[in-house]
Amino acid sequence: MDSQKRHARQFSLELFPPKTAAGADKLKRAHGAFAALGPAFVSVTYGAGGSTRDRTYNTVEMLHRAGSTPVAPHISGMGASRAEMLELLQRYRQLGIKRLVALRGDLPSDMVTGGDFPQAIDLVRFIRQETGSHFTIEVAAYPEFHPEATSPEADIGYFREKIGAGANSALTQYFFTAQAYFRFIDSLEKVGVDLPVVPGIMPITNFTQLDRFSRICGAEIPRWLRLRLQAMETDEAALADYGQDVIQALCEELLAAGAPGLHFYALNRLEPTRTLWNHLGLNSLAGRPA
Ligand code: FAD
Repeated sequence: MDSQKRHARQFSLELFPPKTAAGADKLKRAHGAFAALGPAFVSVTYGAGGSTRDRTYNTVEMLHRAGSTPVAPHISGMGASRAEMLELLQRYRQLGIKRLVALRGDLPSDMVTGGDFPQAIDLVRFIRQETGSHFTIEVAAYPEFHPEATSPEADIGYFREKIGAGANSALTQYFFTAQAYFRFIDSLEKVGVDLPVVPGIMPITNFTQLDRFSRICGAEIPRWLRLRLQAMETDEAALADYGQDVIQALCEELLAAGAPGLHFYALNRLEPTRTLWNHLGLNSLAGRPA
């Protein structure tokens, strides 16, 4: 973990573009409370195959104009042409955006073409080629390995190349076992990767959704946690309390070991993230190395 301890800690939040005008209003109101936490940035997700391109842009624009918290759009290359991507990068640049989360993304089942960016590395290269050092580029990392990984070594090798193409730092897929992250960092150190790799944190509020999503993205819910959450499935309040304890303990373990921050999958729900943020006292830790 030594490579991570020297980085200033940064705490951030992830939101998604609302589908309706009512959802957008609600997010605009919640944004003030999210911003009051003092995150380093809030990121806004991007639908598979560019399906939320305009909604993501509109949400980013709304949040950017609403306050001083930096906003980081997610961009996925899957399904996009170079011309479309260049236009999007220019729009974000003109808006005053300085940070991007660059992803491969996944192809929706009804789309047949993969576009000009088969892997995230192709998008990172393109952003650097077209916009130089204007954007800080975050990329995705998978401490429990990507669902398509052919081997841990291959996944780590491709990740190293992606960082080498010009990424500044990484945000991880969420996980519930701190050891997975520590061992992933050890493996990165062995191949010379020492940029910040910020753990992604998923607050626990609903077992069915968490289970479905975890199966898709390859995040493992350990048996002890799965059985506990299953047993509380019908008692929302008990599950939220228990989830809060488990995630707080995970965050404490990660920070004590030197993690260079935390990235919360807040997903437009203020309360679980705000409670964790305040209980962990993140404001007093931000901006300082471990
Ligand atoms: P890559 O880095 O390209 O990796 C994908 C897989 O391909 C890995 O197994 C890798 O080892 C392998 N690989 C890489 N290069 C090569 C190569 N040259 N040859 C063969 N294999 C290779 N998805 C969205 O659609 N929208 C979002 O907003 C979004 N936000 C996310 C935020 C975070 C923090 C994370 C962790 C994920 C997010 N995702 C999002 C999910 C992500 O798009 C998927 O996990 C996707 O399947 C992989 O994207 P990637 O950028 O990690 O791809």
